[in-house]
This record gives sequence, C-alpha cells and structure tokens, in this order.
Amino acid sequence: MDLSYSAEYEKFRGEVKAFLAGSWPLRGDEAKLPGEKRAALFRERAIAAGFLARSIPKRYGGSEQAADVLKAQIIRDEFARARAPGEMAGIGPSMLVPTLLEKGSEWQKERFIAPTIRGEIVWCQGYSEPGSGSDLASLQTKAELRGDEWVINGQKIWTSGAHRADYMFCLCRTEPAAQKHGGISYLLLSMKQPGIEVRPLRQMTGAADFNEVFFTDARTPKDWIVGKRGEGWLVSRTTLKHERNMIGDAANALATFQSLVSLAQRTTRAGKPAIQDPAIRQRLVQLEGYVRSHQYSGYRQLTKAAKSQDPGRVQLMNKLTSTNIGNEIAKLALDLLGDDGLYEPGERTLGAGPRSNAQWVGQFMWSLGSAVAGGTANIQRNVIGERGLGLPRDAAASAKG
Ligand SMILES: Cc1cc2nc3c(=O)[nH]c(=O)nc-3n(C[C@H](O)[C@H](O)[C@H](O)COP(=O)(O)OP(=O)(O)OC[C@H]3O[C@@H](n4cnc5c(N)ncnc54)[C@H](O)[C@@H]3O)c2cc1C
Repeated sequence: MDLSYSAEYEKFRGEVKAFLAGSWPLRGDEAKLPGEKRAALFRERAIAAGFLARSIPKRYGGSEQAADVLKAQIIRDEFARARAPGEMAGIGPSMLVPTLLEKGSEWQKERFIAPTIRGEIVWCQGYSEPGSGSDLASLQTKAELRGDEWVINGQKIWTSGAHRADYMFCLCRTEPAAQKHGGISYLLLSMKQPGIEVRPLRQMTGAADFNEVFFTDARTPKDWIVGKRGEGWLVSRTTLKHERNMIGDAANALATFQSLVSLAQRTTRAGKPAIQDPAIRQRLVQLEGYVRSHQYSGYRQLTKAAKSQDPGRVQLMNKLTSTNIGNEIAKLALDLLGDDGLYEPGERTLGAGPRSNAQWVGQFMWSLGSAVAGGTANIQRNVIGERGLGLPRDAAASAKG
C-alpha cells in the first residue's frame, strides 16, 4: 500500500485548494443566507467546477468526471479541512441515486437524480416491516397493478425521516404466488398523498427520527418501478450495498475520536484533566489504534479500487468495524462524563467539533442504534463469514429460504 500521492495528484490538490480559497466560505450578501441555502449555492458551484457529483453524468445534474478514487479522496480531505459542504448526504443521494444509476430507467434518472443531489427533494427508505427486518424477504406490504397504477396496502416500520420525505423507495410484494425472494418489486412513490399515514416513533433520546408508515390504497404510477416486476430483491441489494458503505465510512470515526480527545482534555478526574489519567490514556491509545486501523483498511479498499480489483472482505468489514468503534468511543465518553451521563440526551452532531455533555449522551444512544440500522452487527458477521470467508450458509437463514 503506497500512501503518498504522485506529483500529478498533488497538482490536483492545489486546484481543489485554489477553488476552495475562492469559493468558501461565501462572502458578502451570500454569507448572510441561511445555512442550507449557502450550502446549496456552494454545491452548485462545486459541481460546475467538477469537484462534486463526479460520477454522475451531466445530463442528470452531475459533473461527469472520469472515475478516480484518489482524486475523490483528495476532494473529501480538502473539503473537510476547509469545512466546506461535501456531497449531499442522506438516504436519497447516498443510496437511491447510485441505485438509479445502476438499475433505473432513463426517465427515472432524468427526473429524480438532479433534484436529489441538490437536496431539493428528500427520500425515505421503506424496507422494514413489523416482523421483517433481518428476514427482509418475508415482507408483506402488497402492491397490486390496477390499470396504470400500483395500489399499495400494508405497513412499514423504522422509516427514518418519513415525516420529512417527499418520496419513498420501497419494497412491495407484487407476485403473491411467487417464491419469497421472487415476488418483490422495488417501487418509488410520493409521500404526499391521502393513502399514506406517517406516525412518529419516539426513541430513548426523546427525538422521533423514524416512523411507522401505513398504506391504505396508496397509489403510484405503473412505470415508477425500478428494475423489472418481481426482481426488486436484486435492486434492493444494490441499495443495501451503498447503505453499508455510507455507514462504514472511516471519516466519521476519526472525527468522533478527535472530539473524544477534547472531552478527555476538558473533563477532570481526581482534580486533574482526565487525559492525564494513565487508565484513560491507555483506553484512548487503544481506541486510536482501532480508529487508525479502520482508516487504513479504508485506504486499502481505495488502493484496490484504484487498481480495479475487488475490495472483497475489507469492504464487508467496514460497516461492522465502524459501528463497533462508534460504540467504544461513546462508552469511553460516558465514563468520562460520570454523573453528567445522566443528562437528557442532546442532538447528535457530526464532525470533529466539540460536543456538549448532553450531546455525548445522545451520541452514546445513537451508537446502539447504528449497530442495528442497515442490517444488524450479527447479520453483518454472517455476511462476512459467508461471502467473505466462504463459510457455509447460516443454518437458520437457509432453513427459512
Ligand atoms: C437508527 C435506525 C434507522 C433505521 N432506518 C430504517 C429505514 O429508514 N428504513 C427501513 O426500512 N428500516 C430502517 N431501520 C430498520 C433496520 O433496518 C432493522 O431494524 C434491521 O434490519 C433489523 O431488523 P429487526 O429490527 O426486525 O431485528 P430482527 O431481524 O428481529 O433481529 C433481532 C436480533 O436477532 C438477530 N438475528 C436475526 N436473524 C439472525 C440470523 N440469521 N443470524 C444471527 N442473528 C440474527 C439480529 O442480529 C438482532 O440482534 C432502521 C433501524 C435503526 C436502528
């Protein structure tokens, strides 16, 4: 693994830095715009300059650059250093857009990708149902083709952001007679219609980030199906692959660890900064080791991708590693907080910036959920064992078909 960049890439880094120096932060009247508007304006310019939405063709609103993982990494690093808004994050840009690029029809790409990457429309993911989480293919929500429309009845659960979403991509059973995995289709639908009821689910943090969604004769046009009828399972696996990559990104772990070090500097134990306590230092160093290994695993994945090789097990491990590390960081933070760990949880933040004690409590609670979201840690271990190590299939899962 060679971690240095060639002169050609260092020249590219110079171009990225020059663009950032001239464009971020916004100046004059633009600097007074609300945060989201400022970010949107900057992103538009970064796309025009060829630095964001690089893998997306121009006709779908992207900047259509040749695939180059090293350039992509340089952009991420320099944008993070300048604290400039990077790629639009979230379910729509990170999961649906790559799925549409791989499996969507031409009109779907033209209609949905550009407004999604600019943040003008928001998506939610309707996969899980009561009783169908890890065993997702057992889902029961039905879609029946009546004339030119799919008519949808059933229920989804744990639907993150459904209360803010304009559209949902969801899995429905469209071929009741077909075998479990073969009877599912991948549909897009508008959330702004009478047949949909969104009920918030309150978490232990006090926030209600996810919801139950009920469909009573909800409708969507016949051609809002991604992939072929009955082949939604294959399409859904494309989305899940991108979901795991999104959750497994090492940059988050590193940023959270840096924030933990600041916490150890500002909290005290026996009258001294906690960072001077040998037991705390020991745990911090051990954690830094995990975080750095995770980061270098990411570089290994990058090096393989740069050589057009299959990243294999390294990629499969990323999601599991990052949720484990996130939980270990949050556990140490809670120990540092002592009695303040009983605070009402504050809203979780991203990035290396300082977090309040209440936000650390929120971070700890979030770290438990992230080991479940997008496939639980146990399921991810199965995936690593079966697809990564070639072990026999999990007995319980294969018995269920
Ligand atoms: C923060 C968060 C956000 C979410 N957002 C969304 C969303 O936007 N859209 C959406 O559709 N879903 C969402 N989910 C749901 C998530 O995908 C499911 O919770 C997850 O797939 C697990 O399913 P389950 O809750 O039904 O648990 P179960 O499948 O019932 O699992 C319970 C336990 O049994 C274990 N288990 C089950 N089967 C096996 C097996 N074969 N081998 C070993 N262990 C097994 C699991 O690992 C777990 O520990 C979200 C969940 C969380 C926590």
